[in-house]
Amino acid sequence: MSASHEVFNQPLPLVDVNLFDGNRAMRAALKFNAPSLDTAPLQKLGGTVGSGEMQMHARLANVHTPVLKTHNRFGERVDLVEFHPSYHALMVEAVGAGLHGAAWGEGAPNPHLQRAAGFMLFTELEPSVLCPISMSYAVTPALKDNPAIHNDWSPGLTSRRYDPTLRLWRDKSGLTMGMGMTEKQGGSDVRANTTHAEPAGSDNWGQRYTVTGHKWFFSAPMCDAFLILAQTASGLSCLFLPRVLPDGTRNQLFIQRLKDKLGNKANASSEVEFVNATAWLVGEEGRGIPQILAMGTMTRLDCALGTSGLMRQGLSLALHHTRQRKAFGKALIEQPLMKNVLADLALESEAATALALRLAHSFDRANDPHEQVMTRLLTPVAKFWICKRGSHFAQEAMECLGGNGYVEEGGEGVMARIYREMPLNSIWEGAGNIMALDLLRALRKADTAAALAHELAPARGMHPALDHLAERLPLRVEEMATEMEARRLAQDVALAVQAALLAQTAPSAVFSAFCDSRLAGQWGYSFGSLGAGVDVDAIIERAMPSSE
Ligand SMILES: Cc1cc2nc3c(=O)[nH]c(=O)nc-3n(C[C@H](O)[C@H](O)[C@H](O)COP(=O)(O)OP(=O)(O)OC[C@H]3O[C@@H](n4cnc5c(N)ncnc54)[C@H](O)[C@@H]3O)c2cc1C
Repeated sequence: MSASHEVFNQPLPLVDVNLFDGNRAMRAALKFNAPSLDTAPLQKLGGTVGSGEMQMHARLANVHTPVLKTHNRFGERVDLVEFHPSYHALMVEAVGAGLHGAAWGEGAPNPHLQRAAGFMLFTELEPSVLCPISMSYAVTPALKDNPAIHNDWSPGLTSRRYDPTLRLWRDKSGLTMGMGMTEKQGGSDVRANTTHAEPAGSDNWGQRYTVTGHKWFFSAPMCDAFLILAQTASGLSCLFLPRVLPDGTRNQLFIQRLKDKLGNKANASSEVEFVNATAWLVGEEGRGIPQILAMGTMTRLDCALGTSGLMRQGLSLALHHTRQRKAFGKALIEQPLMKNVLADLALESEAATALALRLAHSFDRANDPHEQVMTRLLTPVAKFWICKRGSHFAQEAMECLGGNGYVEEGGEGVMARIYREMPLNSIWEGAGNIMALDLLRALRKADTAAALAHELAPARGMHPALDHLAERLPLRVEEMATEMEARRLAQDVALAVQAALLAQTAPSAVFSAFCDSRLAGQWGYSFGSLGAGVDVDAIIERAMPSSE
C-alpha cells in the first residue's frame, strides 16, 4: 500500500444544498405565474431533496432494483414486487410533500403550480419513484366520471400518508393508482387493444365487467388500482381495476415479469395478464380513449416537468464540477468555450422550466377560456419539445464532467442516471411524433391562433426575431400544418412561447441570448455555439446552484 500519488483536482460532490433556494429560474417562473404563492413548502422540500441522506436513498433504490415474487414458497401466486427500503423512504417523502393526489383535495391556491414545482425539485433527487406518484396525481380528472368510486377512493388518493400494503382500499391510510393502455400489438394506436371486457352485473360502483387480456407495459404494478382500456360491445372503454376486490379477495391480475429497462431502475415496469379480472366502467362505454386521455394529459405535463427537473440537475452538476476542476491553468468554468457550453445549457434549462411551469399553471385556471386553449395547445408542445431536448442536454452536461460523468461507480454516477432516464419522458405517454400529431388535433379547437397571439403579445417589440416568428405563427396555426410539418410547428410554437416567457421572467442577458440563438439563427447544431457578444458570465452566474 505505498502512496504512489496524492489525489487532487477532483471536485467535491454537490450535497446538502437547498435545491429550491439555488434555482433562480424556478423562483422567477413561480413569481411570474402566481406572485403570492406560498413558497415555504417548496423551500422545505428543496432542503430535503438536496440532502445527503436522501441522495443515499436515491442511490440505493437504483442499485437494489425491484424484484418480482410471482409465487410464495407454498406454490401459491402472490404477484408482489419487493423494493429496497430506500425506495419506500423516497415514496414517503414524495407522498408527504403532496406530489401525488394532494393537489386535488386540499383547497390551497394554485395547487397545480405548487405541486409542479415540487415535482420538478423531486426529480432532481430521483425520477423513477415519481412514476406512481405522477399516475396517482393524474388519475383524478378521469376517475371523477365514476363519482361513486371517486368518492370512495379520493380520501386515500389525496392522503399524505404512504401505505405500501396490499389491502382493501378502505383499510389503507393512502392509495396509489396506475394506468394500463399499451399492449403488445400497439401502444400509440391503442385502438388495436385486444383485451376484452364482458358485462358482469352492476353494484354501487356501477356497471361491472369481467376482463381478459394483457398489458405489455404496466408500470408500478404494486399500485392499488389502475385505469385500463378494454374492448366492450360498444368499443374501447375505460375501466377501473383494483388489485383487491371489495370482498377482500385478490383480483385476477397476474404479473408475468418485470421489464429490464435502460434506466428508470428504481421503478418497476411490468407485463401483466388479466384472467377474468373484475373492473368497473369509468365514463361512457365506448369512449375509453378520451376518458383515459384526461389522465394522459396530466402525465404528459409531468413528462415536461420531469425533464425540466433533470435538465436543472444536470446543469447544476456541470456548474458545480467545472467550477472546481482545473485544466490548462484555470478552472474549467473560466475557459471561454466551456462558458459557452454552460451558458447554452443554462438557457435551455431556464426555458424548459418557464414553459413547463406555465403549462402547469393553466390547470389552476381551468375556468378561464384562454387557459383552456393553452392547456390543450401547450401540453403536446411542451411534452414534445422539452423531452426532445432532454437527451441531447444530458449528453452535453455529462461531457462537462469528462470521464467522471460517464462512470457509474455502483450507482454513484448521478450523471449516468440522468442520461439513462432522459429518453423515457420522450417515449412514454405518447412518443415525439404522437405529440406533434396531437398538436395538429389541438389546432382544430377554435381560437387557437388568437390565443397564441394573445400569449405572445406581452413580448412584442422586445426582439426582432421573436416579433418575426410571432407574426407568422398564428397564421401557420390557422392554416393547419400537414403531418409532415407537425414536428417543426411544435418546435416553433415551443420556442416562441419560451421566448415570450423569458421576456417576462428572465434578465435581458438570458432573453436576448435565447432569441439570438434559437430564433435568429446565431447558433449551431450543438450546445456551446452561442454567438460572440452573448453575456455568458451573467447567464452562468444566474444558473449557479446556491452552494456556489
Ligand atoms: C419504461 C416504460 C414504462 C411504461 N409504462 C407504461 C404504463 O404504465 N402504462 C402504459 O399504458 N404504457 C406504458 N408504457 C408504454 C408507452 O406509453 C409506449 O411504449 C409508447 O406510448 C409508445 O408505444 P409503442 O411502444 O407501442 O410504440 P409504437 O406505437 O409502435 O410507436 C413507435 C414509434 O412510431 C411512432 N409513431 C406511431 N404512430 C405514428 C404515426 N401515425 N405517424 C408517425 N409516427 C408514428 C411513435 O411516435 C414511436 O416513435 C411504458 C413505456 C416504457 C418505456
